[in-house]
Amino acid sequence: MITFSKKFKTPLPLEWIHKEQVIRLNPLKRARNIKLTYDSKRNHFRLTTPVYITKKEIEEFLMRADAWLDDKIQQNNESVNLDHGSIVPVLGQACRIHFQKDIKRKIIFGTDIITVFDHQEKYTELLEDGIKKKALEFLTKKSHEFAEMLEVSIQKIVVRNTYSRWGSCSASGNLSYSWRLIFAPLEVLEYVCAHEVSHRKYMDHSKAFWQTVASLSPHYHKHRSWLKAEGKQLFRYRFYSRSKIK
Ligand SMILES: [Zn+2]
Repeated sequence: MITFSKKFKTPLPLEWIHKEQVIRLNPLKRARNIKLTYDSKRNHFRLTTPVYITKKEIEEFLMRADAWLDDKIQQNNESVNLDHGSIVPVLGQACRIHFQKDIKRKIIFGTDIITVFDHQEKYTELLEDGIKKKALEFLTKKSHEFAEMLEVSIQKIVVRNTYSRWGSCSASGNLSYSWRLIFAPLEVLEYVCAHEVSHRKYMDHSKAFWQTVASLSPHYHKHRSWLKAEGKQLFRYRFYSRSKIK
């Protein structure tokens, strides 16, 4: 985090590109200073400013924050762009991404290769969509399998871009998962499904709940620890193509 005092005048666009990084402006009525923070999960910088500030003031601020920004960008280099030629773990299997120009727009998941075909070369969108669908497909299958074993019902299953939890289960039986789990080891995905489906029996985290989880995922301790220690790694993967960062 970095802060400087400033005075303010006119409103500005909310998104800036600086040093090829996305900088989101967060104007706050009560802010008296400019504050720059880095959000590693969302992969962008956030510049909190008073409501009125000039372009020049922001530019000056960013210049003064130069060393700090370079430092953060350096740390950020650990991120993996899902682009042609990159290797990504998908459901526990390392896969190479291959973009190919073709009349038909489609995505094919092979054993160790994901091929994205498009004549307009809009591969990234199709890849992101395909990966999210693949995650939903696996999590849905596993959830139904576990629900059958526990003899409980489940309703709608969705995947979301979540930042603070890997899964959730509503009182009515709707399940929600982070699609980013697709980059985790297979047993970890199974554990998260076991956890959420077990909530259909116990809406708490009681001893009985954990015994139910263990009946579906015997080594759940290990997978829970993996998520705590390594879960942030799942945020390293970005859908990136040339000027666009998602
Ligand atoms: Zn829970």
